[in-house]
Amino acid sequence: MEAPILQPELAAKIADLYGRMEKAYDIVARQLDFTCTGCPDNCCDSYFLHHTYVEWAYLWVGLMALAPELRKGIENRAAEYAAACTHALDRGERPQVMCPLNAEGRCSLYLHRLMICRMHGVPSSLTFPNGQGKKFPGCFRCQEIVGTRQATPAVERAPLFRELVALEQELLGEQQGQMPKVKKTIADMILMGPPRV
Ligand code: SF4
Ligand code: SF4
Repeated sequence: MEAPILQPELAAKIADLYGRMEKAYDIVARQLDFTCTGCPDNCCDSYFLHHTYVEWAYLWVGLMALAPELRKGIENRAAEYAAACTHALDRGERPQVMCPLNAEGRCSLYLHRLMICRMHGVPSSLTFPNGQGKKFPGCFRCQEIVGTRQATPAVERAPLFRELVALEQELLGEQQGQMPKVKKTIADMILMGPPRV
């Protein structure tokens, strides 16, 4: 029998972590009275690279649960996306192409969307072990809501990142350090098939 893309226990752990990311996001969104409803933009055309095998594998768990014709459509859109990104990058521009998983404005793999998709929108911060940190102001619409407020609620990413790194370690085990770094768009992950770990 073929090995699963991701062991069910690990898939359950990442689903749980993703759920808690969503809760952390929702708490801040509620505090700011912020939703995406009525937004004139769709930020699923933002160019992001993703960095973990565990998220890549979990994305494929979701893809494999789709009907084959749906998956085929997504693969075709991923190929178009990759070509458009190459074009933009060759021109020295940051690509702005709709994610191949976005269908009529909605994410077709919502429960499997990656961490960056889950963090985008509300303000967040990332505190490093040395106490220094980075702040992310949120999307343009959230920045309008926040305005000049002094104290703004924010999602602290560090503990969530640490948990994701632990899951990555659990997946890779002894292969960690030998595997090439992941630096891929969602389209790359779709076109390359599930990661071989
Ligand atoms: S996160 Fe911000 S930019 Fe993206 S859809 Fe929501 S409101 Fe619009
Ligand atoms: S995975 Fe889903 S939420 Fe993330 S960019 Fe693509 S369509 Fe949007």
